[in-house]
Amino acid sequence: MLNFTVGPVMSSDAVRAIGAEQVPYFRTPEFSELMFENERLVKKFVKAEEDARVVFITGSGTASMEASVMNVFTPQDKILVVNGGSFGERFCQICEIHDIPFTEIRPEFGHDITAKMLAPYEGQGYTGFLVNLDETSTGVLYNIQLISDFCRRNDIFLVVDSISSFLCDPFDMKALDVQVMITGSQKALACPPGISLIVLSEKAVERVNANHVKSLYFDLKEALKNGERGQTPFTCAVGILRQINMRLKEIETAGGVEFENNKIGDLAQDFRTKIKGLPFEIVSNSLPNAVTPLHPTTASAYGIFTVLKDEYGIWICPNGGELKDKVFRVGHIGALTKEDNTTLVNAFKDLQKRGII
Ligand SMILES: *Cc1c(COP(=O)(O)O)cnc(C)c1O
Repeated sequence: MLNFTVGPVMSSDAVRAIGAEQVPYFRTPEFSELMFENERLVKKFVKAEEDARVVFITGSGTASMEASVMNVFTPQDKILVVNGGSFGERFCQICEIHDIPFTEIRPEFGHDITAKMLAPYEGQGYTGFLVNLDETSTGVLYNIQLISDFCRRNDIFLVVDSISSFLCDPFDMKALDVQVMITGSQKALACPPGISLIVLSEKAVERVNANHVKSLYFDLKEALKNGERGQTPFTCAVGILRQINMRLKEIETAGGVEFENNKIGDLAQDFRTKIKGLPFEIVSNSLPNAVTPLHPTTASAYGIFTVLKDEYGIWICPNGGELKDKVFRVGHIGALTKEDNTTLVNAFKDLQKRGII
């Protein structure tokens, strides 16, 4: 099996080996030390400020998206949400459920956000901003510098879902004045799904501690308090946190986050070069490193996904809803190599030879 989806993705041998081990008891100084190391490396990789904190949630990325919104905003806030795909839509749903007033900014499918789109919201009393840095559903990396400048000018609290951009695209939490950054275990961290994490600036920690959250599991005050001793309030996905630790150390040893950004960027570039001449159109005007969204001009996208899965043992990532037949995505995250890209491109060429595309 060769997996080019955008998560879960393939893991390194060392990460997989941990998955075969017994899960240890975790209320121990040894596990606390591992959690401190996880927090330290994550903060380093996102370039968080010294006093930032990391909360590890046992739950997929959406759990941390919802926990973040619940803990740092209230119905007295007034939020802007970039809704350019299914993950932007999810932030809107979360705001609706928690009675947080919001306005949607809707870039066209596959398009980046522009200064013109933000202009009407200058000086309008907005207090929060929610954006999925890489809107993975359409493969668009938003202009975070533009958003950051807008938020700074307007004194707006910026929350960024970096679930699929963490480790893939350069990101400097402190320089961008990002107050909350969210990511998950099954994207470029290349571990099994089940853990998501929230990096909170000092200001964000203050908000959490002042907020009254009507939830036991998602009240981050308890998580922050437990985190001071390297623990979590409830039983966490211990095995995955051990795998995350291995993976973070692997990246650190290989050259840190810049090394990983370059590696993923190189793989993406290699793939985009190799598909030239195939009947596919790239459908994003601001490509992230994590994924390439493609529109096949001669066949159904879902049909291609199915044939590759069933006859070649290769998984690409199908799209859902209206885009099911129009767009598929090829991920560049996880334990992939340039040779794997060649294998995929050769399979595409074979489909062409067979008259399937
Ligand atoms: C994968 C992803 C999520 C999280 O989805 P889960 O299925 O809950 O893990 C959220 N936002 C973005 C941008 C993603 O790529």
